[in-house]
Amino acid sequence: MSKPGLFQKIQDYFCRANGVYLSCLNREDGVITKAYGTENEKVFLHSIAGESRYMNLLSRLEDCAVESVIEEPLDVEYAKLYGVSVSVDGEQKLMWAALALIDEKIPDAVREKLPQGILTTTEQGVSLALEFLELLTRQLLITMKNESLANEALEKIKKSDEEIKLQCHMLEALNSVIKLLEPDDSFVSTAEKALESTVKALGLSGAFIIRQNVDGASFEVIVSSGDNRLKTIGTSEVPFFTGRQYIISSNSVRPEKFRNFMGKYAINAAVFQPMYINNNCQMYVCFYDRNESRTWEKSDISFLNDTKCVIQSVLSKKITTNSLAGSYASLEAILENTGCGIYVADILKQELLYMNSWCKVLLENTIEQNGLENHVLLDAANTKSFEEIYSVEEDKWFDVHRTDIKWVDGRQVRLVTLYDITQKKRYQQKMETQANNDFLTGLYNRMRCEQDLDRFINDAVNSNSTGALIYIDLDDFKHINDGLGHQYGDVLLKAISHSLTHVHGIENHCYRMGGDEFIVIVAGEPMSQLEHIINDIQQIFVKPWYLKGEDYYCTISGGVAFFPTDATTVEEVIRKADIALFNAKKEGKNRIVYFDGTIDGKSTKRLDLEKHMRKAAMNACEEFKVYFQPIIDVTGEDTCAGAEALVRWNSSMLGFINPADFIPLAEYLGLINPIGEHVLYEAAKHCKYWNDMGYPDYKVNVNLSVVQLLQNDVVKKIKKVIDEVKIEPCNLCLEVTESLAINDMVRMKRILSEIKSLGVVVALDDFGTGYSSLNHIREMPIDIIKIDKCFIEHLGDDDFSNAFVRMVSELANAIGVKVCVEGVETSGQYDIIKNMGIDYIQGYYFDRPMCISDFESKYI
Ligand code: C2E
Ligand code: CA
Ligand code: CA
Repeated sequence: MSKPGLFQKIQDYFCRANGVYLSCLNREDGVITKAYGTENEKVFLHSIAGESRYMNLLSRLEDCAVESVIEEPLDVEYAKLYGVSVSVDGEQKLMWAALALIDEKIPDAVREKLPQGILTTTEQGVSLALEFLELLTRQLLITMKNESLANEALEKIKKSDEEIKLQCHMLEALNSVIKLLEPDDSFVSTAEKALESTVKALGLSGAFIIRQNVDGASFEVIVSSGDNRLKTIGTSEVPFFTGRQYIISSNSVRPEKFRNFMGKYAINAAVFQPMYINNNCQMYVCFYDRNESRTWEKSDISFLNDTKCVIQSVLSKKITTNSLAGSYASLEAILENTGCGIYVADILKQELLYMNSWCKVLLENTIEQNGLENHVLLDAANTKSFEEIYSVEEDKWFDVHRTDIKWVDGRQVRLVTLYDITQKKRYQQKMETQANNDFLTGLYNRMRCEQDLDRFINDAVNSNSTGALIYIDLDDFKHINDGLGHQYGDVLLKAISHSLTHVHGIENHCYRMGGDEFIVIVAGEPMSQLEHIINDIQQIFVKPWYLKGEDYYCTISGGVAFFPTDATTVEEVIRKADIALFNAKKEGKNRIVYFDGTIDGKSTKRLDLEKHMRKAAMNACEEFKVYFQPIIDVTGEDTCAGAEALVRWNSSMLGFINPADFIPLAEYLGLINPIGEHVLYEAAKHCKYWNDMGYPDYKVNVNLSVVQLLQNDVVKKIKKVIDEVKIEPCNLCLEVTESLAINDMVRMKRILSEIKSLGVVVALDDFGTGYSSLNHIREMPIDIIKIDKCFIEHLGDDDFSNAFVRMVSELANAIGVKVCVEGVETSGQYDIIKNMGIDYIQGYYFDRPMCISDFESKYI
């Protein structure tokens, strides 16, 4: 059967079984199945979700590389439109459009007009069903993809129609089991209640329901009530599982098997009743008494029988089309035949409930060495939902998925699937080491870059021409990667690579050097267009990238070196472009800098700087001194309101270094975290001292780098300092800058709100220079805006600066945020500012940053 035909069948069965309307599409052929439903139904559904919604959904689905299920909003609440994207190895293969009517939400007025027989479902039902649909289709596609398997499968499929029928039948069966797996423990709890009231009414010791497992040999107590000793029952000692009813009073004569069983569990009288499901004796309900004088009366038995019937009907109701055992068996049959290892474990009870034979093959050595249960249970207890692991025992790579589901009997279990990805992994490794291409992006890799560059340099020397190498590094890519997860980072890298190769003139000369670093070589004819090319590259980053439902901006820094003018060897050209790149970062990122011989001397210091900074940071940060610059309250008598803590590095090896010269590198190396913590601690400690010395309102401002802000435990760290130093939280002000990396406004707001909930004050630093917009400050949970000093520099002669400061001040007043102006140096500037309704001034006009003893002798 052709693919579309198979998907048509899957679709139609799936729709019927799950009450959703589906249609299946792929990129090449568009719609490949006929949408499910009668004409009447289709007309009605069309009135809820018309063409345009579908088109919208599809274009979103085509763009979305990571999420597998997305929802397209509709006007009515009772209907949901979803798109399910099915990808294999990161490539989108199929899409399902699903429309579901949520039964509990359908208003009566609408219900009256519904076409007869229209399918409805529950909200939970849909999401489970779609998840499963995705899993199932993907599994199917993987199987089809795997060449040999696919051929085999195709052969089989062609061989007989019978098999397809069987497949569809299994699918149908599986669907009904999936329904049983829906989180809903009504069976167990209803049965429990029924047993409980019966036990109470007849004054019995207890009751339980026992089920025979599929293997036919072991038994399991699935519901129990009364005294708790009968939770588990050993295998092969269950005498009553014959399909008949047994009534044993305390004085009855009993066969040996029953004597043993009842003796073992200290039961003196019992009634064992079979429960039939679809004419099959699947379970027994047992009522027992430890009392030595229990004689069962006729009325007792009929009461117990009634209880049994109730439980039986609850169960039958739950299992509408297929019997539990039948479905379970079908499920098992299907799971046995999938190409991946699957097992199910009850972690609480430390029990392995099911394992398909493929899994036993995959884990052959592991099982032999560690014992089956041990290994499997240990792994099932792992809480990661997805992991790629390497198994030493098997010398294999696996994709491991772990999901918590309700098992057929209602209990919470862990479903673990293992896909053998060894071949893919080996191939990937081979590709990565041997070939020229970068596996993720498809660009050429470092090795190829070096080969090409060598050739280009030679060509340039021989033809007396010049070429350029542009070293590109994404700004703050780490934040996107850490914030959204690697898979999104990968999506971004791929998208960027794709765009780079579409820049005219460098199509075949883009390389990925690893991580978020790229190289572009411009040589020969395109060299005349260098400026153009650089501009085109920068244009790529002007627009946002759509990731995880939101727009993300990402900027780049670049360094350009010319060959053979700047250098004549591969290594040197790359190094010099890298030096220029570092300078671009240092100058504030988001720019392209050309290598310049005069910066070379300085940059050789970069390595020294790096080495010494690591050492200094290791060394309890003692070389990092905190200076203080007073902040003056200008709303009244110009009194000191506190100070901003500014770090300086007094390096024993390199001398005195200003923050502008080492903070960017410290951020780049991640060393800003220990250094920043040191500054925070020192600053808070001194402020607490000032507060105790008669200045209870002095505040200290501490700069918090974006890198620090994005650490997971940043709030905990701040709280720790507050607790240790015992500073009033409201006397600590943290200054943050708005960075492009945090265009994830939601995240930024969350982090700042958490910080604020400690009682700490938050200031937005360098306002006006970055990407901060006035809109943002309205949304952000901040208390103070610090207007950047570049606006003050031109205050007298630049209308814009004047207007800007005034406007920010007015807006801030309106929304209850205070304003601090930085960089006030002259009395002229001071006079202008003074009348603008500003709250604080910080600048050389009052004082420069000074060491702690100077600050304290002047202001304390
Ligand atoms: P910033 O946060 O904007 O700090 C204010 C800077 O402006 C300080 O430079 C200060 O000395 C300078 N300044 C103050 N008044 C005037 C003035 O009237 N005229 C002029 N021209 N400049 C003035 P500094 O101390 O060199 O610090 C530079 C930057 O380094 C800071 O800018 C801040 O972004 C960063 N920085 C300093 N200490 C730390 C720290 O502990 N952690 C972090 N993450 N960054 C820090
Ligand atoms: Ca600051
Ligand atoms: Ca500032």
